[in-house]
Amino acid sequence: PAKPGVATFSRLESKVRSYCRSFPTVFKTARNAVLTDQDGRDYIDFLAGCASLNYGHNDPDMKAALVEYIASDGVTHGLDMFTEAKETFLRTFDEVILKPRGLDYRMMFQGPTGANAVEAALKLARKKTGRDNVIAFTNGYHGVTVGALSATGNGGQRAAARSQLSSVSRMPYDGFHGDGVDSAQMLDDMLRDTSSGIDAPAAILLECIQGEGGLNVASKPFLQKLEEIARKHDALLIIDDIQAGCGRSGDFFAFEFAGIKPDIVTMAKSLSGYGLPFSMILMKPEHDVFGPAEHNGTFRGNNHAFVTATAALEKFWRTDVFQKSVEERVAYLTERLSGIAAKAGEDFRLKGRGMMQGIDTGSGELASAICEAGFERGLIIETSGSSNEIVKVLAPLTIEMETFEKGLDILAESFEAVLR
Ligand code: PMP
Repeated sequence: PAKPGVATFSRLESKVRSYCRSFPTVFKTARNAVLTDQDGRDYIDFLAGCASLNYGHNDPDMKAALVEYIASDGVTHGLDMFTEAKETFLRTFDEVILKPRGLDYRMMFQGPTGANAVEAALKLARKKTGRDNVIAFTNGYHGVTVGALSATGNGGQRAAARSQLSSVSRMPYDGFHGDGVDSAQMLDDMLRDTSSGIDAPAAILLECIQGEGGLNVASKPFLQKLEEIARKHDALLIIDDIQAGCGRSGDFFAFEFAGIKPDIVTMAKSLSGYGLPFSMILMKPEHDVFGPAEHNGTFRGNNHAFVTATAALEKFWRTDVFQKSVEERVAYLTERLSGIAAKAGEDFRLKGRGMMQGIDTGSGELASAICEAGFERGLIIETSGSSNEIVKVLAPLTIEMETFEKGLDILAESFEAVLR
């Protein structure tokens, strides 16, 4: 007889439009990097809510802060009002994240998801510059709403919207042509040459590590050059740090290593730290140009998310202890994935950076089969890339080394089982 988790899954599947076909069971509880289903079976989580759970599931300190806030009748919804939870978050983010990095940004909370932050960033750049055009990049991913989708590279994903913003020019991302061709220089040349038909842009929008589009990595010179181009053409540089941010790259912001200061940064996913919906944009003070009620929404900034986000900043970013432990995990991940790729064959390549790495298998079918083999062995893992050809490891940054080792052992076994 089918186990209850699997049986319930089948029943649910016919009732709701659940897009989870990859993990056919019903999960019940979760702690740090391990999810447990209704049958009591444990799964190591190498998906982490697609980087929404950088600090794992149910971190005890965040949980305690949230429970205390709720128990003391802390304001839940306070539209447009200052609440103590909001004030504390703003102060802590400034003190723990921005000031030590020499960054001066205003924060503007957005609707619950990442796409809301991207829409806000695009709209703000258009208002500020009085221009329409947005430069986006091949294989970029920015969300499913029409504006964010128009800037997304994957044509298959864009197709559902039919009509998109016509004012997006897409350029090759770093490394698109292989080594030796500088796509940032190409953009510079195209913007200078009026025969290119590329209008002066309101914004240049990109991820520093492309999460959905195949773990392609922007190099330091590429990012620096884009910053220079943005300045030269009076365009706003928008870094979408929704997936690569909050420590995933190894630093809090994925752009830090390049020493650039984007005009706008979009943040969501792991910002609340607890899997609660929460997104915001960071903008340089001179770009704070929305008038009153020009860009609002009912669910902007969630007090429960402010509470857990503050707890995460205090616990993980006040000192450098956590970042050092992430470095240790990054080194281990790189070493293990290199070993798995080398054993799989010379066509298998390591991709990504920080705690956002994976293996390019060259085939969507192969990568899916490996993920499926992983699930059978108790591992939650997903693919990335324009044809889902990359097996992508997005473990919580807090994963215990022992669990990490076990998860990577399962991944190695899954590669072997499928390639045998
Ligand atoms: N930008 C990036 C880089 C993302 O990875 C995502 C989500 N995968 C989004 C934007 C959209 O975020 P959301 O799904 O929360 O709308």
